Amino acid sequence: MRHRLMGLHHVTATVDGAQEDLDFYAGLLGLRLVKKTVNFDNNKVYHFYYGDERGAPGTIMTTFPYRGHGVRDGVKGTGQITVTSFAVAGSSLDFWRKRLSEAGVRYKEESRFGDPLIAFDDPSTLRLELIGDDEDDRVPNAIKGLGSVTLSLADPTETISLLTDVLGFSVVGEEANRLRLEADVAGTGGRIEILHEADREPGINGIGTVHHVALAISTEDEQATLREHLLDLGLQVTPFRDRKYFRSIYFREPGGVLIEAATIGPGFTVDEPIETLGRELRLPEWEEPNRSEIERELPSIVY
Ligand code: ZN
Repeated sequence: MRHRLMGLHHVTATVDGAQEDLDFYAGLLGLRLVKKTVNFDNNKVYHFYYGDERGAPGTIMTTFPYRGHGVRDGVKGTGQITVTSFAVAGSSLDFWRKRLSEAGVRYKEESRFGDPLIAFDDPSTLRLELIGDDEDDRVPNAIKGLGSVTLSLADPTETISLLTDVLGFSVVGEEANRLRLEADVAGTGGRIEILHEADREPGINGIGTVHHVALAISTEDEQATLREHLLDLGLQVTPFRDRKYFRSIYFREPGGVLIEAATIGPGFTVDEPIETLGRELRLPEWEEPNRSEIERELPSIVY
C-alpha cells in the first residue's frame, strides 16, 4: 500500500542564536515569520516558523535557537538531512548573488539536474541552497518555498524502498551518487534527494543540523492509516502529537533520519489572523498559565 504524502511540509533545525536566526531567515532571505512560539517540549526555547505569506505547508522552515542551553554543536554526516533547498525563479539568482554578497555571505555555484543553484551556510552553519527552478509555478515572491531536502545516507537501499513502496514517492532522476525522488501527489516542495555516501561518518544531532523533515499528509484519518502501516513494518512510531498548527507522528527511517508526517490543517491562522501572523508570542493552552515566566526567560529579540 502506498500512502498519499504530499511532499515536504516543513524542515526543522537546531540553531544557535535567536536574533541572528531571525535576521537571516526573515531579514536576509525574506521569509515571513508566521509563528513565534516555544518548543512544545521545552518552553525556555523559542520555536520560530518561517514561510510564505500564510505559512503554507511546503514553504515552512522552523528553528529552535538553543544558544545558552548547553546543546553541543552537531556533526554533519550520514543519517542526516545535510542540505535544505529553497526554490526560486531561475531569473532571480542574480538578485540573490548580489544580496548574499552584500550581506557578507559566501556562496558557491553549482548545477543539479540542469538547474542552477547557489549554496551557502546560515549563521549556525546549516547548509542551504537556492535552486533556480522555473518549472515551479508557485506565486513568485523571491523564495517560493522549500524545493527539496538532501538525505545523506551510508546505505540508501531500505530508505528508497520505504519512500517508494510506502510513502508515495517515485524516483525521477539520478546523477552521480544522487537520486531524486518526487511525491506523486502534487504538492509544494515535493522532492527528496538521496546522496549515497558510503564512506562518510555518521552525523550527530546538535546546533547547526537539521533535526527532522516533516512530510505533509492531508487528513488525520490518512495519518492514522499510515501510522498503523509503519508499525506493521516494524518501525517505531510516536503516538499522535498535537502541535496546535498540525497533528504529527514521528518515525526514524531505516537510514536514521527522523521523519514526521504532519497534517495540512488546521494551519497557522488557528490562533491569530493572517495579517498579524508571527507578531505576538503564541503559546499552547497548557503553557498559558506560565506565560509571564516564559516571557521573562526567553531571550529578548527585535523583530
Ligand atoms: Zn516538525
